[in-house]
Amino acid sequence: MRLLLVEDDEALVKGLLPQLRQAGYAVDVATDGREALFLGETESYDLVVLDLGLPEMGGLEVLTQWRAREIPVPVLILTARDSWMEKVEGLRAGADDYLTKPFHTEELLARLQALLRRSHGRVEGQLRVNDILLDEEHQQVRLDSGETVPLTGTEFRLLRYFMMNPGKLLSKSRLTEHVYEQDFDRDSNLIEVYVRRLREKIGRERIETRRGQGYVFRG
Ligand code: CA
Repeated sequence: MRLLLVEDDEALVKGLLPQLRQAGYAVDVATDGREALFLGETESYDLVVLDLGLPEMGGLEVLTQWRAREIPVPVLILTARDSWMEKVEGLRAGADDYLTKPFHTEELLARLQALLRRSHGRVEGQLRVNDILLDEEHQQVRLDSGETVPLTGTEFRLLRYFMMNPGKLLSKSRLTEHVYEQDFDRDSNLIEVYVRRLREKIGRERIETRRGQGYVFRG
């Protein structure tokens, strides 16, 4: 899952980045409103964490413009303490959730996970497709057979994206966009390598190849 973190507080960004990446997100960072607006319009994100107090253009304005352009990405806003008006305005502008500063990273991660679930129409707390359960906390697969399969960071991000979109045709470029960060050398051939590794780990028949089109996750 690819996440855009919009925050001008360098110390906060520096603290959050490793934890977000550890949690399996490919993270891009924008440090002002204009950059955020541009990235949100040109890149494919699964989630956005948006600070409201930003240089160049405020977070509320960024969010309003995204929504006016029908960019549906789930957005969690970060608001200042004691500012209930900010929360109200943010929610009215199209935010999906908010968190008041200062916050615990665990709460941010839990809220992001819940937002992701909701945006994919899932109500249950666990990501399961048929007999495969993705243990998001430990980044491993549990099969109904009792087998546990550990995943590397990239394998985890790729499988989570597949499992959020079962039965859908996913092109290599779409998978690349949602699994890697912007600055990464996005060679879509790498996706082939990781699909092969996933198949070795969870069974070849679970990921179907559509020649020239992409992959379909069958579970
Ligand atoms: Ca700020």
